[in-house]
Amino acid sequence: MDLFSSNKTDNNKIKVTDAVRDRIPDGLFLACPYCGTQIYNKQLGDFRVCPNCDYGFRLQARERVALFATDFVEFDADLTIDQTDFPGYQEKLDRAKKQTEMNESVLTGSGRIDGQAVDLGIMDSYFMMGSLGSKTGEKITRLFEHATSHRLPVVLFTASGGARMQEGIQSLMQMAKVSAAVAAHQEAGLLYLVVLTDPTTGGVTASFAMQGDITLAEPHALVGFAGARVIESTIHEKLPKDFQRVETLLKNGFVDKIVPRQQLTSVIGQLVALHQGEVADV
Ligand SMILES: [Zn+2]
Repeated sequence: MDLFSSNKTDNNKIKVTDAVRDRIPDGLFLACPYCGTQIYNKQLGDFRVCPNCDYGFRLQARERVALFATDFVEFDADLTIDQTDFPGYQEKLDRAKKQTEMNESVLTGSGRIDGQAVDLGIMDSYFMMGSLGSKTGEKITRLFEHATSHRLPVVLFTASGGARMQEGIQSLMQMAKVSAAVAAHQEAGLLYLVVLTDPTTGGVTASFAMQGDITLAEPHALVGFAGARVIESTIHEKLPKDFQRVETLLKNGFVDKIVPRQQLTSVIGQLVALHQGEVADV
């Protein structure tokens, strides 16, 4: 037996054997979905951000409320779809409700961000991929209507896989319904601020995610309409790196500013204060 044989792989990284892997408890180390860096779970901190590239790991809506808002009062918590004919839909809904402690893929309510009164919507990618069901659309519509009648700005964190196919046309109609409520809010001269988070795609991108007066985004969030693989197989071309990442959208004018998660509270607070006519300490 060669006592001095190398236990290293070709690229000079120490080989992780199955025996070593078995000693690492699940969830202790995570790979950043954007840059691939292996991160010790505790390094992510409360904001769940990659220390190497600032990518914000996906959060549940209630985690975001705890991070960004105070005095939160939830709206329409019990609103849920009562008829689910599509095979397997009810089971998926039940699982999502249990996991997220929500009855739909968006959490809405009023509260304060950095001391500023806002109406707040947060989509949750853990609830059926944040898909746009009819009650998701109804909750966001009611949020805008409440904000219009109370003359409040709306801050909406988007995260969605797109329309909810189990609800067919009912889901697609939400794009128009929410857009009408956004327009009424805008006509009243009120601020609508969008924060694009990873991932925001499909019908949500094709409607209210792109209708904000100001569009912020978290670093490296994926934002697009159709999936990259679908586009590649349609046009028979390889897409460039970072296609559909917010850094590309920023260059092309779809995003106003990319803000690391740790700074979002103060940036949103300053933008709202500025719009309310208050002088912010910049
Ligand atoms: Zn990273």
